[in-house]
Amino acid sequence: MTEQNQSTSAQSISAQSTRKTPWQAAVLTLFPDMFPGVLGQSLAGKALQSGIWSLDVTDIRGHGVGVHHKVDDPPFGGGPGMVMRPDVMAAAIDSAAQAMPADARRIYLSPRGKQLDQALVRELSAASGVMLVCGRYEGLDQRIIDQSGLMEISIGDYVLSGGEMAAQVLIDAVVRLLPGVMGNPDAHHQDSFEDGLLEHPLYTHPREWSGVTVPDILLSGDHGRIATWRHEQAKQITRDRRDDLWQKWLLSQPSSDGDGKNSNKKPLK
Ligand code: SAM
Repeated sequence: MTEQNQSTSAQSISAQSTRKTPWQAAVLTLFPDMFPGVLGQSLAGKALQSGIWSLDVTDIRGHGVGVHHKVDDPPFGGGPGMVMRPDVMAAAIDSAAQAMPADARRIYLSPRGKQLDQALVRELSAASGVMLVCGRYEGLDQRIIDQSGLMEISIGDYVLSGGEMAAQVLIDAVVRLLPGVMGNPDAHHQDSFEDGLLEHPLYTHPREWSGVTVPDILLSGDHGRIATWRHEQAKQITRDRRDDLWQKWLLSQPSSDGDGKNSNKKPLK
């Protein structure tokens, strides 16, 4: 199916419902064939099939204007590239909104946006769903961002050619937190960022490999000491690699000096 011959504006990838209220993702894109893409595989794919979440893809071109379904025009004031028209985007958003709960979060994937982090992922996993607008060209006319109340979210300080991969990153990160997706529901509590620290090192069989043995403590069976060792390793890795996270973690720790001030507090760089 090509971009041109998409006549329908919405393509539903339905999931057999095993829950009354699946987490709903609506994606607006000029490239509907990019979905579900990687989201159709592995954990996210199985969860989609089992109805833990649902995906509704709207082809923006289906709302384009004129015989050629035009979706973009040059920027007023001059400059390179093309801008996605607000009238076209409004029609696409209105159409997608019909299938979404009223309180679903409306998001425009954008390098100018708030950077996606685990706290925001958790927040989105608690919502009823998200509507994700994928930009192309130079991006969206500012008026549609303002009038539709689109929250801008970035996946990092680099520029992609379109929002589709950013949308897939966001959905994947959210879906793995949904109840029933991970075999072990506690698994994600140990992930990097969950407690503000990066994850400790991991080891598995064989015990000795390439001349290196697994740290003795992990073979001790003493779960208390293992937990302490892992926590110290997580702190060290975070301190060595991510000063921004480390400083935040220090500030989040309860006071130990009794005067209400955090004794771990170090000056922020
Ligand atoms: N002119 C825009 C700017 O400088 O901010 C970049 C436009 S980019 C070529 C086209 C689209 O890719 C954007 O509208 C956005 O949807 C998506 N995109 C690019 N980088 C992104 C990022 N870091 N995070 C999320 N979406 C991104």
